[in-house]
Amino acid sequence: MSGTPPVRVVTLYDDVMNVYADRGNVIAVSQRAKEYGLALDVSPVSLGDRLPADADLVLIGGGQDREQRRIASELAGRGEQLRAWAEHDVAMLTVCGGFQLFGRWYRDHMGEEIPGIGLFDVTTVAPGAGWPRCIGDVVAKSHVTGLGEVVGFENHAGRTYLGPHAAPFATIEYGWGNNGGDGTEGAVYRQAIGTYLHGSLLPKNPTLLDHLLEAALRHRTGTDIGLERRPAPYAERAHASAAEVARHRAPRFDGIAR
Ligand code: GLN
Repeated sequence: MSGTPPVRVVTLYDDVMNVYADRGNVIAVSQRAKEYGLALDVSPVSLGDRLPADADLVLIGGGQDREQRRIASELAGRGEQLRAWAEHDVAMLTVCGGFQLFGRWYRDHMGEEIPGIGLFDVTTVAPGAGWPRCIGDVVAKSHVTGLGEVVGFENHAGRTYLGPHAAPFATIEYGWGNNGGDGTEGAVYRQAIGTYLHGSLLPKNPTLLDHLLEAALRHRTGTDIGLERRPAPYAERAHASAAEVARHRAPRFDGIAR
């Protein structure tokens, strides 16, 4: 797609929030943009860095509690800008610990409340010792039009609960999801997606990858421009394989929200 201005991608704290290879998401975005002939301008932003003046796609990965504590107060200070970007339909993908900190707060297993930026109306609580972590492979059905099935891997202590103004990103078919009880997975607000799915997520979910690239392109150009979808055979095979593993190994959600 020659002639379109570079799509601006901001990666947040990817030197800190990078458990389970979540950095693979920006690698997948960069590779797929090349396949579409899209120019990218990737700006890594970490502790002490300034946010760029604008963005079309924001990515943040997951992290253990201690990494979340390291970035939380600075991230909260960027909350107003990040919420404003979301209101203007900047595409966002926030994964696990990053997702939790884009919610209102995360109360860790010691009962310490780590502030979030309140972009998603969700709260997260890690139960005390003795409770299992939510670990395993996941298959879920996304509520975002056109996305269909999403697959990934989850490992989190925190149980996330949707507030009255939050909508789930997906419904769990196999796995724990937000809290192992209500069948919800992640959250979505405008073009911002929160999810527990590591993997990394985007190399195994080409439809979601194209969805985010398309949303970023539309924000960049201010038009309803679309991508002429290209096949992604390798990613489709990875998706099918991950879904099969999940269906064999993960608990099936029985459809009864608890
Ligand atoms: N520390 C958070 C939790 O345990 C997030 C973990 C993660 O990002 N994988 O719930």
